[in-house]
Amino acid sequence: MRHLLSPLAVLIALAGSVGAQAPELSALARLEADRSFVAQPSASKTEITLGLSQPVPFRAFLLDDPPRLVVDFREVDFAEAKPEDYERRGLLGDIRWGRFRAGWSRFVAELNGPVKLVSAEERTGTESGSLPELHIVLERTTATEFEARQGAAQSALWDLPQPAPTGALLTRQDGTRPLRVMLDPGHGGIDPGAEVEGYSEAVLVLTFARMLKEAMTRAGMEVAMTRKEDIFVPLEERITAAHAFGADLMISLHADALAEGEAMGATLYLFDEAASDEAARKLAERHDRSDLLAGVDLEGHDDAVAGVLMDLARLETQPRVVRLGQVLSGAIKGAGLRMHRHPVQGADFAVLRSPDIPSALVELGFMSSEVDRARLHDPEWRAEMAAALVAGVQRWAEADAAEARLLRQ
Ligand SMILES: [Zn+2]
Repeated sequence: MRHLLSPLAVLIALAGSVGAQAPELSALARLEADRSFVAQPSASKTEITLGLSQPVPFRAFLLDDPPRLVVDFREVDFAEAKPEDYERRGLLGDIRWGRFRAGWSRFVAELNGPVKLVSAEERTGTESGSLPELHIVLERTTATEFEARQGAAQSALWDLPQPAPTGALLTRQDGTRPLRVMLDPGHGGIDPGAEVEGYSEAVLVLTFARMLKEAMTRAGMEVAMTRKEDIFVPLEERITAAHAFGADLMISLHADALAEGEAMGATLYLFDEAASDEAARKLAERHDRSDLLAGVDLEGHDDAVAGVLMDLARLETQPRVVRLGQVLSGAIKGAGLRMHRHPVQGADFAVLRSPDIPSALVELGFMSSEVDRARLHDPEWRAEMAAALVAGVQRWAEADAAEARLLRQ
């Protein structure tokens, strides 16, 4: 699978756009009609230029029956332009565009014969100033070659189960509406998680999640849960549910057991792709093994383009995640609750991989520790921990909203 755009180029473009001209990073990119056109340099070649108001992650590919060019974008507002102005030119037939699924848009051009996707790139610094444009070159080819190349790439972002329509656009929270939190009690059903002295982690974290949900709801947040009972939910579905809910934040809850050592206290895990030390790797394996048990296919979800798209969204999200770790650990310690000696750690757990929803995994304590186990079973301790998490999330949301408003100015 080859890269359709250079990750570095687009990362630079996106980073550069945060500067003096400060476009609305969290607002929708617009398709600008006066910078968008279809050109035909020769009878067998067609060039499509789409002027955008800000850089967006995208991918382009070809489909057959009928032959089509498909371009998927991070949500783009097409309202300014009309498909009629671009269709039936050169190799293009009818064109449609619009929202594809929550947070994503799709452009589809029918093709009047087999073509080859020569290139698809997002360019900046062209004649139209520093605004980006998507440049796609198509060339007539043979039916055989077309057949060999067409087909959508498999990717974690695109081939997830269709989320339920959310109605509202996924916009970054700015304090003008209630914060939406997805609580994700770990494990469940055929996967009990850690089991010590007849207690299962799955049941314990569900009990805690219900309590935390109540506390958050009382604090004015909108809260949903990836599971409300003792059932198995694949990890990808948990992330999909958070997207479908339009979550501003996802918090996974665990209380694992360690075979060795005397670990105790609460620990926060934040996304870190590079977290590769033995302990982190083992933990990731333990967290993610449930899907393997349930026979969910984890292969084929990491294509290069999806990686690029995730990197782009991650660029905006990761600083928010880092702040989440700081504020939550501050709130837990501030409430006098015991944390692990490494209170905030990086990990590459599946549930932390939402590129656009700040996510944290809270190990409430270790079921392997007698002291922690007593705490986890103590309703008073649970209430204190829930209150600390609510306070931390509130503090984070305020700072995060202030930053969102600043970016928008
Ligand atoms: Zn766990």
